[in-house]
Amino acid sequence: MLRRFVSNAADSLREKDAPFNAFVSFENSLNFTNNGKGPLNEYSIGVKDNICTFGLPTTCASAMLQDFESPFDATVVKLLKKAGAQISGKTNCDEFGMGSLNIHSLHGPVLNPFRVDSRRAAGGSSGGSSAAVAAGLCDAALGTDTGGSIRLPASYCGVVGLKPSYGLVSRYGVVSYADSLDTVGVLAQDVERVEKVFECINKRDCNDPTSVDERLREKANFLATKSIQRWSGESLKGLRIGIPQEYFPAELTSSSNHILASIRHLLFHLHSLGASIVPVSLPSTAYALSAYYVIASAEGSSCLSRYDGIRYGLRVPPSPESNFTSTSRTYSLSRSQGFGREVKKRILLGTYALSADAFDNYFLQAQRVRKMVRDDFDHVFSIPNVLYSKFSFKEKNANDHGVDGVDILIHPSAIRTAPRLDDVLDVSCDRDTLQDYVQDVLTVPASLSGLPAMSVPMQPDTGLNQARDNQQSDENWPIGVSIVGQWGTDKLVLKVGRVIE
Ligand code: GLN
Repeated sequence: MLRRFVSNAADSLREKDAPFNAFVSFENSLNFTNNGKGPLNEYSIGVKDNICTFGLPTTCASAMLQDFESPFDATVVKLLKKAGAQISGKTNCDEFGMGSLNIHSLHGPVLNPFRVDSRRAAGGSSGGSSAAVAAGLCDAALGTDTGGSIRLPASYCGVVGLKPSYGLVSRYGVVSYADSLDTVGVLAQDVERVEKVFECINKRDCNDPTSVDERLREKANFLATKSIQRWSGESLKGLRIGIPQEYFPAELTSSSNHILASIRHLLFHLHSLGASIVPVSLPSTAYALSAYYVIASAEGSSCLSRYDGIRYGLRVPPSPESNFTSTSRTYSLSRSQGFGREVKKRILLGTYALSADAFDNYFLQAQRVRKMVRDDFDHVFSIPNVLYSKFSFKEKNANDHGVDGVDILIHPSAIRTAPRLDDVLDVSCDRDTLQDYVQDVLTVPASLSGLPAMSVPMQPDTGLNQARDNQQSDENWPIGVSIVGQWGTDKLVLKVGRVIE
């Protein structure tokens, strides 16, 4: 009886999802490890298809892994089940997390649920997770964010998306795209739900060598709490919000007046509540996007080398009649057929950046830029970075470090609203695919620096009435605002998120 009920639930989810293509597989059995008694009791959660789940395929939206079923649950999935959550299914994404629009998927593109008949992109690479949450198909969803893949789709679909500090949430059982950047985070319709799920997965895991120890977590948490105590109460007096001037690039200011007007409106509101709005400069921002794509592709090409048709993934042996029967022929056939176009592009770019001729000028240079970007952030925050500075509980108050520093930064999450699918799916040679990479310009700096960042839907500026009735107009589509904090101050970012939403 129970089994029939559950299988009906899976069928009904499949039916509801049909217009969006947010899910790629559905859970058919009830899996309440905790007998439904944990903090996530009655939460249904979608899991991005690059996170391993026992009993459901983990395809990474790639032909390379289309038949792969993991023999174990990723630590994050285990923690969710332990907390009483029900995994409802696996969500669509760009192949191996590489993309910004969820158009590079074995399972086809995801449609943005905001107005499905307008056929706009959901954003990527966690587009399935974002669309599933926006369409109300699950209470929350897990995504991964390497350079913006949670925040960008959250912004396009009008939901909340948190990329936690690097090292807080376990990556054990998460298929790597770029190990030094990958993070697992949460999407939901409101900050409260995001926080609830985040609290359950924010745990040290000795299976993940990059999982940060308790002592560092405590230090950062102490500083975040100090900052919150300074301003939370009746007003926001004491909260210093930095506005980085470099986060209003030409791509944004030339065509997206409605985004600028809405953020201005939000800042007036926060100021009227007592917060100080402080212009700040992060001068290395202009180089962050190029450095990100060099580092992410280099690490990606290395991580994907394991899919050789012998040890992992799709195997395409040469036909017996062929003159080529060598192992290397199996490698090339398997990789040619297993990987999609975008992934191949990244492998070529990354392999080049790591080659002896290019290493110094590309990879090392990108690492130098990464450090400059991180130093810029450390320079503007009043809270020290506990990963790099000597901090002791005894000697410091949160606001002793740099009296002019800010508690958090705020900027638009994206330079535009969701693009039309027909425009971005155009595979003709004239399409400027570089534009897809430019979408990440505002999200990659926090990724390079491992900082917590959350996109929250922003209220449109009510003064802007033009095109209000035109449903096709960009101005009627959701826009997100990002809140970025110092490393480990995720609690502070969430707290400010609650004020803004
Ligand atoms: N769009 C970026 C990329 O393609 C970010 C992807 C991600 O965060 N997974 O690399």
